[in-house]
Amino acid sequence: MRPGVYEVEMGIPMRKFINETCGGLKAGKILKAVVPGGSSMPVLTAQEVEEVNLDYEAIASKGSLLGSGGMIVIDEDTCMVWALENLARFYSHESCGQCSPCREGTGWAYKVLKRMVHFDCTAEDIELVLDIGKKMAGKTICVLADSLAMPIASYIGKFRAEFESHVRKDCVRCQKRMEASH
Ligand code: SF4
Repeated sequence: MRPGVYEVEMGIPMRKFINETCGGLKAGKILKAVVPGGSSMPVLTAQEVEEVNLDYEAIASKGSLLGSGGMIVIDEDTCMVWALENLARFYSHESCGQCSPCREGTGWAYKVLKRMVHFDCTAEDIELVLDIGKKMAGKTICVLADSLAMPIASYIGKFRAEFESHVRKDCVRCQKRMEASH
């Protein structure tokens, strides 16, 4: 992959942009997901990436947004629970604290997701995080709360199996990462 700033013609296939313009994934790696327009945008699955072009309407048709155009390409080695926990940590840190749903919601979501990453969770925690996201969406002065609410809904909505693997404590990616950090 060649991370960088690219100017391309609007409407080219997203897969072509990733594979050709940006050099593709590391050899042998399989694409899992793409966040198309900055970290707050709803995530696209690999299948959706195959079907979508880089323009506003096409990405909106998959329930996401082109946003800032800041694209995050995620391969099979990344756990989506860990990825969402990273986002929750960032947005809870960035909350200015003025609105209760954002101040409490981003911090609460981060707290629960942090437990989930460490396999300290139940199936109810998946529903809890979804509920926290719903209660933040559209209820605050600025869009920071929505910036976490949208990833919460799409990561869990599209990759629920990975969240369930944390309930079963059998996510190999996170087991390996935790072993390596000890
Ligand atoms: S939504 Fe915006 S204004 Fe409200 S607490 Fe969060 S960062 Fe502050």
